[in-house]
Amino acid sequence: MADAGTLHDAFVDELRDAYDAEKQLTKALPKLAKAARSPDLRAAFEAHLDETRGQIVRLEQIFANLGEKVRGKHCDGIAGIIEEGKAVMEEDFDEATMDACLIAAGQRAEHYEMAAYGTMVAWARAMGHAEAADLLQETLDEEKAADETLSSLAEDGINDEAASAAHPDEDEDDAEVAVPVRTAFQSTSAKSSQR
Ligand code: ZN
Ligand code: FE
Ligand code: FE
Repeated sequence: MADAGTLHDAFVDELRDAYDAEKQLTKALPKLAKAARSPDLRAAFEAHLDETRGQIVRLEQIFANLGEKVRGKHCDGIAGIIEEGKAVMEEDFDEATMDACLIAAGQRAEHYEMAAYGTMVAWARAMGHAEAADLLQETLDEEKAADETLSSLAEDGINDEAASAAHPDEDEDDAEVAVPVRTAFQSTSAKSSQR
């Protein structure tokens, strides 16, 4: 190679990687939706599938604006994350636990995308590609919102339901905290443990 690659070349590579990642996700998200037991979780995956199709269109617009061919480049990162998600779907978990695991898999994908789009927005801004930066920012905002929706679904019910199935006899308020504290107290200062 005569000339060293520039940040612009690296940027176009990242766009191709993201383009391929989004295409992989349009195949993976329907599987996550189908495996979800919670109707809200299923709806969240389906809504993000629609957004993902729009994200692909945005990337095509960016390639056109930059005068680049619309072309993907295999994204190994998202492929690995999708593989892990598939492995989890093959496990024999109770329904709430499976939903919790599907959320975990989905959030790994969202965080990977947030990292990628965060970088691309910053690079586009640094190079003065304002239109590309704005389009990429729109996608970044969607990825963040999708991640937050998954967090809410986990924290507003699915995790508790899965945890209750794992530990059916525990009162969630006291058991976990009180036992270790008391043990530590007795082992270090037995004499003063009387009340
Ligand atoms: Zn550039
Ligand atoms: Fe995406
Ligand atoms: Fe996403």
